[in-house]
Amino acid sequence: MNQNYPDFTADTELDRVRGWTSDFAEENQRPPTYFIQTFGCQQNDHDSEIAAGILEEMGFAEGTSVDDSELVLFNTCSVRANADERFFGHVGRLKPIKKKTLPVIGVLGCMMEQDLHRDVLFKTFSYVDFALGAGAMELLPAALGDVLYSERKQGTRDLTRKESDPFATGQPVRRVKPHRALITVMTGCNNICSYCIVPYTRGREKSRPYEQIMEEAIGTVRSGAVEIMLLGQNVNSYGNDVRLQGGQAPGFAELIRDISLIESLGIVRFMTSHPKDLSDELIEVIGSYPVIEPHVHLPIQSGSDRILKKMNRKYTAAHFLDRVHRLRDSRPGLTITTDLIVGFPGEDEEDFEATLRVMEEARFDAAFTFLYSPRSGTPAASLYDQGDRDLVQGRFERLVELQNQISLESNRSLLGKTVEVLLDGPSRRDPRILSGRTRDDRLVNVSFDDSTSLQADGTDHVNPYVGSFVRVKIVKAGSFSLEGHADIP
Ligand code: SF4
Repeated sequence: MNQNYPDFTADTELDRVRGWTSDFAEENQRPPTYFIQTFGCQQNDHDSEIAAGILEEMGFAEGTSVDDSELVLFNTCSVRANADERFFGHVGRLKPIKKKTLPVIGVLGCMMEQDLHRDVLFKTFSYVDFALGAGAMELLPAALGDVLYSERKQGTRDLTRKESDPFATGQPVRRVKPHRALITVMTGCNNICSYCIVPYTRGREKSRPYEQIMEEAIGTVRSGAVEIMLLGQNVNSYGNDVRLQGGQAPGFAELIRDISLIESLGIVRFMTSHPKDLSDELIEVIGSYPVIEPHVHLPIQSGSDRILKKMNRKYTAAHFLDRVHRLRDSRPGLTITTDLIVGFPGEDEEDFEATLRVMEEARFDAAFTFLYSPRSGTPAASLYDQGDRDLVQGRFERLVELQNQISLESNRSLLGKTVEVLLDGPSRRDPRILSGRTRDDRLVNVSFDDSTSLQADGTDHVNPYVGSFVRVKIVKAGSFSLEGHADIP
């Protein structure tokens, strides 16, 4: 273990909260329960897994709903306007259930790094007990202990991220899916894309020590993880911050190669990649190590060089396409997914058509498409002019139509073929069907011959196939998913 980083388990605040949970359990003949509502990206999903691990370490048990829990946490996202609005709606609904002291209500995540949102939160919802900024999970025991043991003074437990906070070691994690280990490799971003709030909420890039990541990765595989997902706002610049300060650190290519060599690991996935930082070395590693997923999520955002410049993306459409072709040359069959924004301030028809041309050439296997929405505090917010929303909406629909057609063609190429699918659990629509992902990250709904071996109760614990790769014959293809039949000997 790297001695420069504090050991989380040595935190005395843990004992303070344990004292409270143990008194509660004695009085009520059951442990106090928690409920976490998570908004946003996979990094937030993982932060919530860490929050759950810390709470269970302190004597809480997982609750089933907001209404029957002694502690309610919201893990917030600032990236899109609708996540902000949904969060405030959820907090508002807690007012009738808040008694004198319980449930304790805490708010975590990116929104709590912004003064504007914290002010609105504490002024409008006086029953919220504490706020913690993104990535400040090691402060959860202290914040909770303060609330449980002291008179409430609104806003005093308002703790935001400190630039100097290191990664704590030994933080417990309660993984939502035991077969999938989400592992943070770095936090923050140095890119300052003009529309993006992340650099202001998650801070500057900070790489987690290589030894810490490897220790966690090996540990999760030993405990049964089949899939590892490496997380970071820009994983391609892993280690740059350390090297810039004169230290030594491997790059992302070396890190993911070493992880792919862990014995018994089924697949290693990663996100997100920045097109300007996707190196030839990483492309070569992706092409050479079969355990690394044959898929890259590579956000382009726009195909117009003029708009890319305004977005401060620091690459051109030609550079982006060069990365796409090199990736596909290096690993035949590799899928590429992307993010696209329509209606960025100043975008005209010519810019939009440049985006359509890049989409035609890149043949993205899937895309997350967004209508631009200004995020207050970002440089692009001041450029925003409502403009002609119908025109922008029309462009958005054209873009979605083109992408759906390309995605459908890509998915149809698998019809009749047998592929490996890592099964995640019952599909939301029909618990007799299991959903999972191919190695190249396509969503597949899988049916089985022997339906009696599947549980109809919606739980995945009892299903012998969940968490493993099975061979699946693809029988139907849509733009967003595939259907297949398990080929179990
Ligand atoms: S690369 Fe750009 S879009 Fe991505 S997190 Fe950093 S600033 Fe935001």
